[in-house]
Amino acid sequence: MAVETAWVGRLVSREHKREDTVISVGKATIGGPHLTVIAGPCAVESREQVLNAARLVKAAGATILRGGAFKPRTSPYSFQGLGKEGLAYLAEAGQKTGLPVVSEVIEAGDVPLVSQYVDILQIGSRNMQNYALLRRVGKSSRPVLLKRGLAATMEEWLLAAEYIMDAGNPAIILCERGIRTYETATRNTLDLGAVPVVKALSHLPIIVDPSHATGNSAYVLPLAKAALGAGADGLMVEVHPCPRQALCDGDQSLSPEEFKELMDQVRRLSGALGRGVVKP
Ligand code: PEP
Ligand code: MN
Repeated sequence: MAVETAWVGRLVSREHKREDTVISVGKATIGGPHLTVIAGPCAVESREQVLNAARLVKAAGATILRGGAFKPRTSPYSFQGLGKEGLAYLAEAGQKTGLPVVSEVIEAGDVPLVSQYVDILQIGSRNMQNYALLRRVGKSSRPVLLKRGLAATMEEWLLAAEYIMDAGNPAIILCERGIRTYETATRNTLDLGAVPVVKALSHLPIIVDPSHATGNSAYVLPLAKAALGAGADGLMVEVHPCPRQALCDGDQSLSPEEFKELMDQVRRLSGALGRGVVKP
């Protein structure tokens, strides 16, 4: 296959490194035998909201807490996030629950600031080909969660990871979050084929975000299970203490009860897949 030949020698390729990359963050691991579940609100909205979210996702068994402080919104009039204040609330929620935290960085100049508060730097779909940002997080000592661009091929996505690794950072987690297609019934089209293909081409761990892939909380559970069945190393799921009141992505956010159900089913499935969920 042409794409595979082109991959020989690349730092992210299987040819370069045969064994799966396993990334450890606090008590969580991403890649390897265990599944990881990153959960939390789309955006940090207040101290109370993110503390509540952290407690409930931890109680249900999530291993890492998510929450956006710098939000790259499609409309300039939508809620843009709390910025530095949001990072402080997220870090506090992480400390109180013992969960490592991940948050998005949208500008190269913000990498030092965001790195002070988070354990994992997230590069969002809209920034997957922001090469200055990729090089900057490549110089960071924090692991990077790299989301697939909304119209990126797998090769473009892996080459974006190559930028980060070439700049010096080998700790990269790939995240499939759906791509733009002609289909409008779901927010994006979840490309589960990416999971086995990326695993064949690369040693990096890959997780799946069924929330942004579907835009609808009703479809999150079935696609979460399908993702794990396809071989994903974990999930990233949006959860809100009260989705109807969410300032961002409420339609796709799971309620506390729905997230508990998802975790129950993930645990059952992980037994069948021979992959436990790491306890935080
Ligand atoms: C997010 O995970 O907060 C997000 C903005 O997702 P994406 O970059 O996949 O759209
Ligand atoms: Mn979101």
